[in-house]
Amino acid sequence: MIPAPFDYVRPSSLDEACRILGAADPAEGDVKALAGGQSLLPLLRLRLAYPSVLVDLGRLEELRGVQDRGDHVFIGALTTHDEVLRSPVIREHAPLVALATATVADPAVRHRGTFGGSLAHADPAGDLPAVALALDSVLVTASGAGGREIPAAGFFTGYLETALEPGEVLAGVKVPKLGDGWGFHYEKFHRTAQAWAVVGVAAAVRLEAGTIAQARIGLTNMGPAPVRARTVETALRGVTPPAAGAGADGGRDPVRDACAWADEGTAPPADLHAKPDYRRHLARVLTHRAVRAALS
Ligand code: FAD
Repeated sequence: MIPAPFDYVRPSSLDEACRILGAADPAEGDVKALAGGQSLLPLLRLRLAYPSVLVDLGRLEELRGVQDRGDHVFIGALTTHDEVLRSPVIREHAPLVALATATVADPAVRHRGTFGGSLAHADPAGDLPAVALALDSVLVTASGAGGREIPAAGFFTGYLETALEPGEVLAGVKVPKLGDGWGFHYEKFHRTAQAWAVVGVAAAVRLEAGTIAQARIGLTNMGPAPVRARTVETALRGVTPPAAGAGADGGRDPVRDACAWADEGTAPPADLHAKPDYRRHLARVLTHRAVRAALS
């Protein structure tokens, strides 16, 4: 389908972009930022969104790239998924981001779609919001009022909804470095290769003297926004993982027992791909797989 008519502007500075986005009069229609267009343009074509103005962020070089900033990695909002995957800084200091990004769509989408666009769009089936949440990332915004730092826990407010205010641009994301002893994994269940997650699990686990000292678990598509599986995190603390394969014969596996809490506090959707109960089952099974893989 053909999108409804809209004006198109391509500002050359972040200030100008914020000014245009902030000056929008809601009575005259929505003004939307455009990054990679991989989520927004399909919505326009389906006429599920019909902004009156598109503000293309493509010229804002200051929003691109990955930087090592000592205690955290800064990922500019316009950094494409492909650039994230090729970054040695991400591979070394934020491997969970790389593991999840590798499962996003296909190479064509990954060459256009951006890290910031995925978070700003806040699709519950998107893989990266759960990772940002699990890693306690901080989202950095820019606006005419100066900008803010918003912890991921307060950023994703609902279905395709975030804490971004009108006139506010997501400038980048601070991903804390977790240091030694951590293992990571992103486990995704999808119907076909390159498809969206039916359910996904982002896991970061730290072992200390053979016992789980810390765990961080983020769930994809288990509610209108990404979910932090806090009960699993608490249940895993202090657990000594049995040798791989233990529990397969029906014997006790304390890691599996802890992961059985994965669906607590979730509100999984019903759609063409799965009913809520099936998603709950997947969350428990995939969390166990993700934690085991992170431990190994
Ligand atoms: P856009 O489409 O340009 O924008 C999306 C929304 O975010 C818009 O509302 C826009 O206004 C807003 N926005 C973008 N950037 C900013 C910013 N810097 N500040 C403020 N607002 C901003 N994603 C997955 O996670 N997993 C998948 O498996 C997956 N599969 C896909 C398969 C296909 C066929 C396609 C087309 C997309 C898929 N995606 C998937 C989505 C893809 O990851 C997109 O890149 C991402 O959702 C949006 O990024 P974008 O840069 O394209 O944003």
